[in-house]
Amino acid sequence: IRDFKVENEPLLSYLPGSKERQELEAALKTHAAQTEECPIIIGGKEYRTDDVRYQVMPHDHQKKVAKFYHATPELVKKAIATSMEAKKEWERVPIGDRMELFLKVSDQMANEHRAQLNATTMLGQAKTIIQAEIDAAAELVDFYRFNCYFGKELLKYQPISESPDTTLNLMRYRSLEGFVASISPFNFTAIAGNLAYTPAIMGNGVVWKPSDTAVLSNYQILKIFRDAGFPDGVVNFVPADGPVFGKAVTGSRDLAAINFTGSVPTFQWLWKAVGQNLSQYTGFPKLIGECGGKNYHFVHPSAEVESVVSSSIRSAFEYQGQKCSACSRMYVPESLWPQVKEGLLETRKSLKMGSVTDFDSFMSAVIDRNSFDRCHSYIEHAKAGPNTTVLGGGKCDDSVGFFVEPTIVQTTSTKDKIFAEEIFGPILTAYVYKDTDVKSMLQTVMEDTPYALTGAVYSQDETFAKEATETLKGSAGNFYMNDKSTGSVVGQQPFGGAKLSGTNDKAGGPHYMLKWASPQSVKQTF
Ligand code: GLU
Repeated sequence: IRDFKVENEPLLSYLPGSKERQELEAALKTHAAQTEECPIIIGGKEYRTDDVRYQVMPHDHQKKVAKFYHATPELVKKAIATSMEAKKEWERVPIGDRMELFLKVSDQMANEHRAQLNATTMLGQAKTIIQAEIDAAAELVDFYRFNCYFGKELLKYQPISESPDTTLNLMRYRSLEGFVASISPFNFTAIAGNLAYTPAIMGNGVVWKPSDTAVLSNYQILKIFRDAGFPDGVVNFVPADGPVFGKAVTGSRDLAAINFTGSVPTFQWLWKAVGQNLSQYTGFPKLIGECGGKNYHFVHPSAEVESVVSSSIRSAFEYQGQKCSACSRMYVPESLWPQVKEGLLETRKSLKMGSVTDFDSFMSAVIDRNSFDRCHSYIEHAKAGPNTTVLGGGKCDDSVGFFVEPTIVQTTSTKDKIFAEEIFGPILTAYVYKDTDVKSMLQTVMEDTPYALTGAVYSQDETFAKEATETLKGSAGNFYMNDKSTGSVVGQQPFGGAKLSGTNDKAGGPHYMLKWASPQSVKQTF
């Protein structure tokens, strides 16, 4: 493998008249004007079933941007067999060559396909340009480039040690025994691309179920890989009904791993299914999952109000609160609450919500009807509940798109469901505590939810900051001091949570590639 270094992909500005802006506008126009057909792809061949589905634009739900098909159980099984067959060849390709292909695809994605990836993410998943850019343009290629880089670093350990006499100790990394089932979420095109393709860097074959609400952008990823010469059958594109897909992959004796991002109940369902089928597997499937969160911003009385306000607004409302890392519960001391509250409410009023094609929009619609209904029901709960008051926002309008106003709620109980349950929408709830209780509140933060994904503490008091960092160790897989809970960067803040937030395998980190490899220790004595 040649030695190479990687850097995070820089974000472009999209100023009016810029080249990137013109290309993006053209791509938006093209994709908004058509309903792209996205067939099931198994071994490079297209398949269609009678179970026809459409992906609509969340901000204008009459408009269909993709037509796709749900696979039958037989097709999922075919995809499994195909991935196993294709992997035989693929894992014989030297790892350096596999990485070169990924690096080439990354460069193409960041250049000639950037507008296409951004436009399909914007229209299909309701991301504003800035949200699409950090996802489909930057993070996606960051994942591939850094995973290749970290993979290369891993291989440095072969040989692991050499004795001056006749013994050589080696570590060799093979692919996993069996196939990988990747089940990806709608909220990040980058996460979908990472779940589906990264295992293949280590030589694995994949059966990929994209989210129904992200098919369009996810299909572009497949096309880009295919056109760059990625071999057919190594990654198979199989949109399907969740339980149909889940049953087929967990029912296969060759299941090597599940690579999952999504909800807690779905991940628990998969664990259970794997447990029930355990005796029939050829090995022990690895389960790698990132689930939900109920992420906090904890404000100490010494905090800078302005930064608390601006970063809480961004964390809670960017991408309509649909990042797993979004802040949805805040702890604010009584002494700062009047200023924090005023700041949040004032800023909230200035947030522009609208179409993703309007480059001034700060927010757009939530992903679908289910999400809209769920947000609506939490807002109704907040309006009616004895512990809760809606301070600002609260209007939901689905006449054109699934629009939910950014909503700020105050609660008098940290046990209220709006403060404990994941909503995955633009609803931020604040709990006001007595300044003198600040230390005991840290314990409360730990106990208020079963999740541990992200969290942030705002404090200019260094002693408290240290204490909070220690006390809150188990509260978040990604912990921030004086910065928002969202926005982890590949290679800088490896991402993943513990407790019910997942298996904490840290996507974008130096050890992630080990998940996709089966190491062999070799001792050679001559
Ligand atoms: N890594 C993203 C962030 O830190 C969130 C990923 C997710 O939503 O799963 O904001």
